[in-house]
Amino acid sequence: MAEAVTHPCVDCGGPRQETREGRPLHPNAKYCTPCRAERRRHPPSRVTPGQAAEIQRLLGTVTRHEIARRVGVSKAAVNRYLREVGAAEAQ
Ligand SMILES: [Zn+2]
Repeated sequence: MAEAVTHPCVDCGGPRQETREGRPLHPNAKYCTPCRAERRRHPPSRVTPGQAAEIQRLLGTVTRHEIARRVGVSKAAVNRYLREVGAAEAQ
C-alpha cells in the first residue's frame, strides 16, 4: 500500500533520492538531498517583495541592524536576503 512517491524536488525539480545515511526520503519530503543540505546551511529568506524593496531602499543609508528594525524583520532575514541577491558584505 505504501507506494513510493516520486514527485520531484520543489526547489530544483530533480528527483528526490535517499538520504546521506542511505534511508529513503520520507514520502512527504519536498526537497532532494542536495537541496536539503543546502537549505540546512543557508535557510532561504522569507522577506516579502515589499520588504525586499524596503531593504533595497535603506541599503547603504543605515546599518543592517537599523534596516531590520525599520522593515520589521530580523537582522538574519536581512542578511539572508542580501546574500541571495548578491549584495556586497559591507557594514
Ligand atoms: Zn533539489
